[in-house]
Amino acid sequence: MSDCIFCRIVAGSLPSKKLYEDDGVIAFHDIRPIAPVHFLVVPKTHIASLSDCSTDHEALLGRMLTLGARLAREQGLHAGFRTMINTGKGGGQEVFHLHIHIFGGGTTLPKV
Ligand code: AMP
Ligand code: ZN
Repeated sequence: MSDCIFCRIVAGSLPSKKLYEDDGVIAFHDIRPIAPVHFLVVPKTHIASLSDCSTDHEALLGRMLTLGARLAREQGLHAGFRTMINTGKGGGQEVFHLHIHIFGGGTTLPKV
């Protein structure tokens, strides 16, 4: 079995609070939310990070972003939301399977 936790969630061997799934992408709530709504958009195929993406992945990345915006609306984030990709240890990445964080709700997020 894969030791990648997001591959295990994709395979269904680790439970998640799933929001969405299709043939290429899955979205589920973050286990340690930093905002009232906080979910992750994850490709089903194992790609370690954004740095490992090439032009071959452009359609997948675009699909992940537009899906994230749609799910954010469906989750009630009508005032807006933040989109974040941590890349590599220097970028604070902890799970080395590409994912987009989408979070918001409650108070206005700090300016970055
Ligand atoms: P990152 O720092 O971008 O790699 O973030 C990884 C995120 O995955 C963190 O926000 C974690 O809370 C989240 N996470 C880790 N394990 C799980 C899990 N089993 N289910 C849902 N989210 C998780
Ligand atoms: Zn993986």
